[in-house]
Amino acid sequence: MSGIGGTASEGPTGLDIFSKYEPLRQRASVVSKLGIDPFNMTFDDIMGPTRGRIGNREIILAGTNNYLGLTYDEGAREAAKDAIDRHGTGTTGSRIANGSYTEHAKLEADLAEHLGKPSCIVFTTGYVTNLAAMSGLAGPKDVIFIDADAHACIIDGTRLATNKTTVRFRHNNPEDLDKRLSRQELDEGGHALVVIEGLYSMFGDIAPIAEFAEVCRRHGAYLYVDEAHSYGVFGEGGRGIAEEQGCLDQVDFYSGTFSKSLASVGGFCASNHPEFELLRKVMRPYMFTASAAPSNICAAQAALDAIKTRPELRQNIKARAAQLHAGLDEMGFDLCAPASPVIAARRPNEAQAAMEWNWLLKEGVYVNLAVPPGTPQSSSLLRISVSAAHTEADVNAILSKFRALKENGNAILADGMARLQAAE
Ligand code: PMP
Repeated sequence: MSGIGGTASEGPTGLDIFSKYEPLRQRASVVSKLGIDPFNMTFDDIMGPTRGRIGNREIILAGTNNYLGLTYDEGAREAAKDAIDRHGTGTTGSRIANGSYTEHAKLEADLAEHLGKPSCIVFTTGYVTNLAAMSGLAGPKDVIFIDADAHACIIDGTRLATNKTTVRFRHNNPEDLDKRLSRQELDEGGHALVVIEGLYSMFGDIAPIAEFAEVCRRHGAYLYVDEAHSYGVFGEGGRGIAEEQGCLDQVDFYSGTFSKSLASVGGFCASNHPEFELLRKVMRPYMFTASAAPSNICAAQAALDAIKTRPELRQNIKARAAQLHAGLDEMGFDLCAPASPVIAARRPNEAQAAMEWNWLLKEGVYVNLAVPPGTPQSSSLLRISVSAAHTEADVNAILSKFRALKENGNAILADGMARLQAAE
């Protein structure tokens, strides 16, 4: 019946509460036998935006989404330290319960101004941002349309919302959205909310936001764009793919995270609609969780200032992404999209991808192992995220390890198989 006293006990079916995860346990145990467990690894040290250490091995970090490399920026670090000295280490409650700090309000005003929107609300994480804003916006009569490759927090946003209907349209396909919007009958007083991303985090492909905006305009639908991976990186002023495609003003709701270019922890949603402010009084993930710590807010504020004043960061990440993409392409890797700060190579299956991931780490390069169900088209990927802090030499070093990976493919597989057999 229960696990009281810490002893797992069996329920009426003779199975304990964890038994449903048996297939997952078996799958995880195979991966962990290959060496380091990719889903539960710890660095012994992180020394900078592109360097970590495991044991006495220095690792080039190429999978941390630290796009502008600002986590070690002097301004961001000083701002965070100063915030701790002035305001302490945590807010110990939500903004509704404990009130906001002036720093929350200033960051909201500055993000709103940067994006040219009348309203912006800051949240505790990017995940919480989408949960809060989507569930706050979509009521029972509204229909949410999401891209087939939507991130987990967009899917979870539809789960928390009280809307009855969620429609998925084909990935990055405005014509398919158009068709589905035409087919969908809305209840009296109901609205369509279309949610897409700017840069998709697994394949590194880019949404045609301007085309989506045109479809939304024709159907009177609201457009919500998550630019978690593109804010700070794309657009002349760092305002993301929407800025690059000249349609920022047509995005009704623009969400982002602090955990990538903004070098911190938190999230934000800015809107063309001043009424968005009302949602502070209804969004449960805003009202019932602690607000971002002052140090997180102040670090993000410093990173925002860098986004506004240091365009060379964007030039560098673009150059490094082009260099890495061209090098991998030349070696014949099956890359998922044109050059962007997210570069993913398709591997034949999950086991091989896991063996290669382990081998790369042993050789001093950390990338992401991305496998189903978290990936589109059930792909197994070696996913790299490029940083403005990577040097040309760093990218050459990453490329040389990928070249060696290709050359030693058979030996890496044989070693992986031997490890699996030894563990049986
Ligand atoms: N949106 C997208 C598209 C993401 O990829 C992520 C996380 N990687 C988030 C939102 C959530 O951001 P956070 O880490 O701040 O919760």
